[in-house]
Amino acid sequence: MYQEYEQESRLIIRKALKTMLARIPQQYHHEYLEYQKDLKLKYLLHINLIGQFAYALYSIADWFVISDVGLTAVLYKSIYTLFASVTTLYLYKYYRKVEVFDLILPCSIIGASALWFYLVNLSASPNVPIYIYSSLVFIVLANLCIQVRFMPALITSFLITIVSFVGVYHIVDGVVGQFILYLLSYIPVLIFSLVMSWGSTYKSRSIFLHHKLDSFNRQILEIMAHTDMLTGIDNRRYFERRAKNAIEENSITEKPISLLIFDVDHFKSINDNYGHDVGDGVLKKISDVCKTVLRKGDLFARYGGEEFIALLPNTKESNAFLIAERLRQKIEHTPIIVHGHGPVYFTVSVGVTIVDYHKNTLDDAIKQADIALYSAKSAGRNLVMKAS
Ligand code: GH3
Ligand code: MG
Ligand code: MG
Repeated sequence: MYQEYEQESRLIIRKALKTMLARIPQQYHHEYLEYQKDLKLKYLLHINLIGQFAYALYSIADWFVISDVGLTAVLYKSIYTLFASVTTLYLYKYYRKVEVFDLILPCSIIGASALWFYLVNLSASPNVPIYIYSSLVFIVLANLCIQVRFMPALITSFLITIVSFVGVYHIVDGVVGQFILYLLSYIPVLIFSLVMSWGSTYKSRSIFLHHKLDSFNRQILEIMAHTDMLTGIDNRRYFERRAKNAIEENSITEKPISLLIFDVDHFKSINDNYGHDVGDGVLKKISDVCKTVLRKGDLFARYGGEEFIALLPNTKESNAFLIAERLRQKIEHTPIIVHGHGPVYFTVSVGVTIVDYHKNTLDDAIKQADIALYSAKSAGRNLVMKAS
């Protein structure tokens, strides 16, 4: 399983991190949004409300600069802000999507800027030709808070730009010189604000991708820490940890629990005759056979070299003996095919013991099973022996 993480997911993430865009791979889109939601939804709520409030406060400037429409400005802007804020709060309560919150402010600014240009256009104040430059703040405000996705921000920026250009063109009555002056101020601000929103979204993406890579690495380490790399089954350390817990549980429920240790017979000669790879193949084959014979709740691990161990909860010694016997026979009849040699058969000897959790520890039980295993070897191998 760890190889899967290793090869696919990590490579995909690494590749994404290597590119300048740090694009989120399609299969992680949803996860990315969930991650950003946990991180940023509340921040986006606050920044949206503050942004809307700032727009409303702007009417104080309107009151002084375009005083002939000051009252209308205050009224219209308050209504607009109220509507936008209530919508924002409603969405926060019932539609908590971070990608939407990312765009509330830019979207509301499309309307807000249109409303503002409409008001300025109504005014006959001599300040108007200068005052149009304060509209530069709209595009900055829209891009300042973007956190999650850049493409939609690009689209809203485009729309705000259209509104601003149309608004200004109307106000300057099509005087090309004045319009170009405005463009010369607007375009650098537009570029700057887009770079800013791109920077924020890039940072969000790369933080997520690094987080994802870290969590893959952690999972791999965890799997590696308790897996035997050759056979893919549990390793000794992990077995001991789980076995101690299982024994403790069984001591509470007073259910019997048994232990098997088995060892490949004359394994050294298999290695000597067919090579180490074939020896490895035998160990893998034994793991596969055991998986089919043992039950779901049984613990099974590679104990070391060519020795395996199994803990059978809720099993008396006599039943454990039967299971061990079934295992022994199945292994005896399952050869591996060696190129140039045909089927190679192998056998195991097994020691079985009951775990007396009132008196003994896991280590004691292992020692007992080992003694039984040793007598199986002495008695001629390919045998199961009970400790009692
Ligand atoms: P017995 O029937 O008494 O158990 O004899 P044996 O030959 O199986 O036992 P011995 O302890 O003499 O040899 C065990 C061998 O197992 C020696 C070691 O090189 C080999 N071995 C241990 N781990 C591995 C492994 O991961 N792969 C392979 N191919 N061989 C291993
Ligand atoms: Mg051995
Ligand atoms: Mg052996």
